Amino acid sequence: MAPTPAPEPEHLEWKSLPQAEIERLIDAEADRNGIEKPQGYKVSFHYNADVESHHFGKTHPMKPWRLMLSKQLIVGYGLQYAMECYQSLPATRQELARFHTDRYLDFLGIVNPLNMEDWKAERDRFGFGDDCPVFDGMWDYVSLYGGASLQAARTLMSHEADIAINWSGGLHHAKKSAASGFCYVNDIVLAIQEMLRHHARVLYVDIDVHHGDGVEQAFWSTDRVCTLSYHKYDPEVFFPGTGGADETGPPHSRDEGAHHALNVPLDDGIDDEQYGDLFRRITGAVIDAFDPGAIVLQCGADSLGGDRLGRFNLNIKAHGACVAFVKSRCHDRPLLILGGGGYTPRNVARTWCHETALAVGAELRGTLPAHIPYRQAFMGEDNGAGLLYPELHNIEGKRHQNRHSPAGLARLVENVLTQLRYVRGAPSVQMQELPRDYSRARAEAEERFQEELMEMDGVAEGRRRRKEKNVGGRGEFR
Ligand SMILES: [Zn+2]
Repeated sequence: MAPTPAPEPEHLEWKSLPQAEIERLIDAEADRNGIEKPQGYKVSFHYNADVESHHFGKTHPMKPWRLMLSKQLIVGYGLQYAMECYQSLPATRQELARFHTDRYLDFLGIVNPLNMEDWKAERDRFGFGDDCPVFDGMWDYVSLYGGASLQAARTLMSHEADIAINWSGGLHHAKKSAASGFCYVNDIVLAIQEMLRHHARVLYVDIDVHHGDGVEQAFWSTDRVCTLSYHKYDPEVFFPGTGGADETGPPHSRDEGAHHALNVPLDDGIDDEQYGDLFRRITGAVIDAFDPGAIVLQCGADSLGGDRLGRFNLNIKAHGACVAFVKSRCHDRPLLILGGGGYTPRNVARTWCHETALAVGAELRGTLPAHIPYRQAFMGEDNGAGLLYPELHNIEGKRHQNRHSPAGLARLVENVLTQLRYVRGAPSVQMQELPRDYSRARAEAEERFQEELMEMDGVAEGRRRRKEKNVGGRGEFR
């Protein structure tokens, strides 16, 4: 017999309830939504609440409290009962140094708002400024989100989970030796490095509205990671200005990384149907061709309609459909789900709550439970009227004109399919046919890859950063 839903207390009344009563309400909510551990697979959730309290500055669009809102929705629906929940530990300096340079980490560790004037040259060199300010507790913040992604990757690699989630991660712009686009350390690169210890190939898929440039650059010269990014592209006015259709990896086909950077550059206003069709056709073909051992999905929520910085018209369920599609194509492959951008906090929270539900196979009722702290952030017509899935594609004053034509979209699909002819079978054949040569070939490729990284670190990074500085005001980016 279905349990009778408890009468929902008013928000203010709820605030004064004893803990036991709150827990009873959450239990009842979980029952009401039929939330239980998924059959046949495990989902782990990685989080450390200390990450919420950090502030980039009052007017900065990146608000770590969006993570608190997300967590409150996830917990309010009772989704924690369907997952293994881990309190993540901060990444150590040694762990961060697996990707980032010592001189960059030295700086991250020492600079603070009180001494930052003494470090002017370093701040410029390492990409600090309006987008990436020095703030109180910066080291704690970066090591917390980095540590959560590392823990999630390890949980997958030790088969303790099949899907692992870290909404505080996904900070795809950070470079080996520079902060960029609100990102200080690249937790995605660190997690993928961890996964490469166990899998020959890892696929990275990025649905943030911005190009996943930091991850692409980190694995530019290797065929062990294929990066696939869907993003708004305009080299003149939209950050980071990279990720065109012709940016496919190193130009020489003898370089292992050639054709393993896949980009789907989009224009303003793409809608649910267009995005879904494009995503399924391209991502499906890439999974088939590359045949990764593990998949990482960056779920930046700035690709939603109405986002403070984004340019698309997507609704929450269309964004989530990308997660559902990748999950459906994973089969036995471990899947790491990460956050990313997202600058309208209430909609970031709705989306990541919905996507947590998709991960565990739960369907949530569309009215937000009354027992959610800060429920007022979701109330009122302008804030989504207390619904989990308010319409975001047609918000007055925020709808972007759709600049996509069927022919243009077909060309994007064709472009990726053409590149996949080069990807097909490449590294997997070598692994099966030449197992003894494999590790030596890998070590050589790894060496070349590290050399190139160091080179890019100096040259390309300077070019990219100049470009970032030249484009318009901050409000237009990320
Ligand atoms: Zn973004």
